[in-house]
Amino acid sequence: MNSILITGCNRGLGLGLVKALVKSSKPPHHIFATCRNLDKATELKDLANRNPSIHILEIDLNNFESYANLVSRIGEVVKENGLNVLFNNAGVAPKSTRITTIKLEDLMQTLQTNTVVPIMLSKACLPLLKQAAAAATNGEQEMGVKRAAIINMSSILGSIEANTDGAMYAYRTSKAALNAATKSMSIDLFQNKILCVCLHPGWVRTDMGGSNAPLDVDTSSSKIIETLFKFNGSNNGGFYQYDGKKLPW
Ligand code: NAP
Repeated sequence: MNSILITGCNRGLGLGLVKALVKSSKPPHHIFATCRNLDKATELKDLANRNPSIHILEIDLNNFESYANLVSRIGEVVKENGLNVLFNNAGVAPKSTRITTIKLEDLMQTLQTNTVVPIMLSKACLPLLKQAAAAATNGEQEMGVKRAAIINMSSILGSIEANTDGAMYAYRTSKAALNAATKSMSIDLFQNKILCVCLHPGWVRTDMGGSNAPLDVDTSSSKIIETLFKFNGSNNGGFYQYDGKKLPW
């Protein structure tokens, strides 16, 4: 893999994924890591100071007008190689979860950040992803992250089949919708040989996952990276967890 763009890298799983990639046996040449506020991204900045392959890009993903600038900055670095992977990781989970307490603004905001953002960012990155998919035809014939891929960070809470507990209206619907979008992308972009997959990271100890979660960030992130490299055409349009296990829709 020559290049990857990961969103939400100042903390949690985004930061963990950047660390896992840097530590991997064949780190990408370019890791584009986004954060909302550069001043607060101390750990990411330290990591980037030690690893020139990390390019930090400051962006609030709800600012859709700034996507063109983000894409052109990436394009200036990757040039004719294009972008191999877009990893839509940034997400939110509101505190109000019950039907009696859910707030309109939480529903709208969560749907925007967890569903609309990954779709619109995928659209914006398509020219770079198509370029990478086409540039790979001399070497990497198979679909996969070494060629071109969109990885959408979903959640088992977005599974309609696995929902036995109810509640979490904003979060569940936003991730179920993201899963539906991923499936459509996998069909629409098959002709371009861009692999599209949704991924559940497990229940992980982050600000979102909380302190009771069984998995730590390093374990989930390193398994995710291992799993990413195993994906091929047979995984296109699927819903998997961090260790590659297939999940129910
Ligand atoms: P986290 O620790 O709360 O981190 C969320 C990240 O998303 C932060 O970097 C945050 O930036 C960024 N973000 C949120 N809204 C943004 C926006 N509008 N623009 C730019 N960045 C934005 O969460 P996490 O646990 O690492 O979760 C990462 C992904 O995994 C999410 O999609 C989440 O739904 C999914 N997930 C997590 C778990 C789990 O157990 N942790 C389970 C299933 C799925 P700021 O620091 O600026 O807010």
